[in-house]
Amino acid sequence: MKEAVQSIATTVDFNRIRSRDFPILEREVNGKPLVYLDNAASSQMPRQVADRLDRYHRMEHANVHRGIHTLSQEATDAYEATREKVKTFINAGSTDEIIYTTGTTDSINLVANSFGRLKFGKDDEIILSQMEHHANIVPWQMIAEQTGAVIKVIPVTDRGDIDMQAYKELLSDKTKLVAVVHVSNALGTVNPVREITEMARQHGAAVLIDGAQAVPHQTVDVQEIDCDFYAFSAHKMCGPTGFGILYGKKEHLDAMPPYRGGGDMIDKVTFEKTTYNIAPFKFEAGTPPIAAGIGLGAAIDYLQEIGMDQIALREQQVVDYALSKIRDINGIRLFGEPEKRASAIAFVFDQIHAHDVGTILDKQGVAVRTGHHCAQPILERFGESATTRASFSFYNNEEDADRLVEGLNYVKEFFQTD
Ligand SMILES: *Cc1c(COP(=O)(O)O)cnc(C)c1O
Repeated sequence: MKEAVQSIATTVDFNRIRSRDFPILEREVNGKPLVYLDNAASSQMPRQVADRLDRYHRMEHANVHRGIHTLSQEATDAYEATREKVKTFINAGSTDEIIYTTGTTDSINLVANSFGRLKFGKDDEIILSQMEHHANIVPWQMIAEQTGAVIKVIPVTDRGDIDMQAYKELLSDKTKLVAVVHVSNALGTVNPVREITEMARQHGAAVLIDGAQAVPHQTVDVQEIDCDFYAFSAHKMCGPTGFGILYGKKEHLDAMPPYRGGGDMIDKVTFEKTTYNIAPFKFEAGTPPIAAGIGLGAAIDYLQEIGMDQIALREQQVVDYALSKIRDINGIRLFGEPEKRASAIAFVFDQIHAHDVGTILDKQGVAVRTGHHCAQPILERFGESATTRASFSFYNNEEDADRLVEGLNYVKEFFQTD
């Protein structure tokens, strides 16, 4: 018994990591020490990643893939090194399967416009879940409108899990693509993406996983999931904004047409005919966010040094601790009680609007997100227009959870709802 307990304890000193690497968490907001619980919107950047960006800007900046001169070659090497790091981090088969994008939204738009245009025809079906982020809804609506494809929606159970039986019934030979979120930003639900993929396979459908909230919080293995596409953003995993990844199986990427034209994505250009570069470069037109790409590489190095399994364990401890405290507050309802949760806890007060909750918490130095979290359909499913969401990272601790709970009790006092 004792051994089992020991084997799941973290071996990393997360409080030391917090004070050493995240100076922003030492600052005050509205005269109170900052408690940052909006990691699902964007995570904080450790000193190591900020330093790497700074060094690039000060001493290494040049355009990539173009110059014969040393600086350009150095920048290209540093920028391309990220592809190898991403490949290892998510266990892709090769660096040819790693496309640089500007974020999850851009990655999904790429698949919709390239794969969708290639594969979708009239009355073909695209299956989404009811808990998708707008980024995994709107691009499909746009391409459905252009191709005549139809969108089918998997309902979510009262607890906040995907209804797997309903999913099974929606699948058919008309299904061309299933696009589902790995971890919900609105509910915190961790979806069984391996099983979802396997079921789609039986109908010959491709699968895209929106991994924006999964990659920062757990080990992700795209070959184990066996999905066709996997999308995520650098700024939610300790990296900079403006950069993201689309993983795609090579067989798809080779067949898919480019989606944006310009420099770098071509093989040869004449006014009569242009031929394209190979994947992944045919999808990467124009000068990319070079510093941000190098920054993602530094963020992956950073996360790997701590260890994703350690991060997952530590976050689970703090999230479980916060959950138990929040459950004890009268007048608060959790938004979603999924079977498996990661990072995010959303809730509503019976009598108080989420925006008021967020404003009063901010006065206490506690940063949370309020609103619809870019997932209006799932809020509507539960009859809400706004929730308050606290989302945790490995640098958050029990004290942060206590400060949140203190703040929530203060909100209650302020509105005298007891
Ligand atoms: C944040 C998020 C997105 C969009 O990511 P961007 O970085 O804004 O492109 C998509 N899906 C989920 C689940 C998210 O949390």
